[in-house]
Amino acid sequence: MKPDLPKQVSVAIVGGGIIGVSCAYALARRGVDVAVFEKGTVACEQSSRNWGWIRSVGRDVRELPLSILANSIWKEIQAKVDVGYRTTGLAYLAASDTDMAAHEMWLDAARMKGAQARLVRGEELAKLIPRSKRPWAGALYSATDGVAEPLAATRGIAGLAMANGARIVEHCAVRGLDVAAGRVAGIVTEHGLVRCSDVVLAGGAWSRLFCGNCEIDFPQLKVHASVMQTAPIDAGLELAINGGDFTCRKRSDGGYTVSKLGASVADLTPDSIRLSTKFMRAWLSERKYLKLRLGRRFFEELKVPRRFGLDRPSPFEACRTLDPAANLPMLNDALERLKATFPSFAGASILRTWAGMIDVTPDAIPVISNVKTLPGFHLGSGFSGHGFGIGPAAGEMLADLVTGERPRADSGDFALDRFSSRDVGFLASR
Ligand SMILES: Cc1cc2nc3c(=O)[nH]c(=O)nc-3n(C[C@H](O)[C@H](O)[C@H](O)COP(=O)(O)OP(=O)(O)OC[C@H]3O[C@@H](n4cnc5c(N)ncnc54)[C@H](O)[C@@H]3O)c2cc1C
Repeated sequence: MKPDLPKQVSVAIVGGGIIGVSCAYALARRGVDVAVFEKGTVACEQSSRNWGWIRSVGRDVRELPLSILANSIWKEIQAKVDVGYRTTGLAYLAASDTDMAAHEMWLDAARMKGAQARLVRGEELAKLIPRSKRPWAGALYSATDGVAEPLAATRGIAGLAMANGARIVEHCAVRGLDVAAGRVAGIVTEHGLVRCSDVVLAGGAWSRLFCGNCEIDFPQLKVHASVMQTAPIDAGLELAINGGDFTCRKRSDGGYTVSKLGASVADLTPDSIRLSTKFMRAWLSERKYLKLRLGRRFFEELKVPRRFGLDRPSPFEACRTLDPAANLPMLNDALERLKATFPSFAGASILRTWAGMIDVTPDAIPVISNVKTLPGFHLGSGFSGHGFGIGPAAGEMLADLVTGERPRADSGDFALDRFSSRDVGFLASR
């Protein structure tokens, strides 16, 4: 069915994930005429598939100001609509003194950026995870970190945006930009042209392809990650935790979302080869957590055209929703390790499994930036596996960039042109 397409808006947002809808909400609250265009449905890709962590702990310190701002926005959102936001606290458990020393190093840098995390040991840690049977050297813990329900949150924020006047058009792929006199003049969708003065691209894993067709180089790759949901269980664990060989957090429905930090797989694709120099340091630094794999995906992506005309169906219509299969052996292993650590999970049964494609940049922090070479074009993408928690603040920052207001958190670290320089500083995160 053809959606009701506006002929003209001030700002068109491409992508209805947490970044697109948060930006729409921020703009609509400022009285801007804004519409979101989504090729599938709101939150159909990463934004409904993530763990739901809203985390400062272990985060790249350049993102901490955004993380702190996001926490206050999450509270405001939860006061308006139930998105399952709760400050449960979050801990990275340390198996050894070496792990604790690494956490301490992070903390030294993070405190200067306002992080409220601290190291906990002994009895204090035992009170946080009373049912753990494993000896821990300690943990990096933040009481102010928390969780929200990914699908409810993204849909909830979309609803708030609409209540403030934003339009959301689903099943409407944006094929590309209409450019006139050297600046953005509109978007070309599968259902026709929409005139606008500004476009925000919040296309998640698709942003590189979209940018490339506009002659803009955005270095971005995809990483495959799997997740499991258990049936409701009284396991006595409220805190969200990373136990090294498993992660888990309690869901609003009483079950747990379970996965593993080191369970990501980077499929080698033609883009991995094109971008190998930019990503080499990231691959080396993440090799403990990230497996490189050559398989079917290489040939699937080889078939996707990198340049395409806007007058015929585009690759965005050919795949409405990226829905890869979950890695079941890895998930079963994570669940077994969780059960071995917390016997209270012994009866946990698996309700659902799924996977998602995480969009990553060479330095594992996002681009939240004006595109200087094309006035009116703005990019909010490459959140590298941690964009859900900071999503509402990133949406505000994008809105600031569009309206020309001074961002509440410094946007300098997130500029697109940082990749034009040869030395890309990589700080491991996630
Ligand atoms: C398994 C997993 C676990 C994660 N865990 C966490 C976590 O615990 N905490 C955290 O903070 N982050 C987490 N993340 C990362 C987080 O989910 C993402 O960073 C965040 O959701 C990115 O949001 P987005 O809006 O940029 O992208 P997406 O949610 O992927 O949305 C992009 C949207 O754009 C649409 N689109 C693309 N191109 C077009 C086009 N041309 N026309 C129309 N529509 C288009 C797509 O269909 C898609 O819906 C996780 C991710 C995964 C996959």
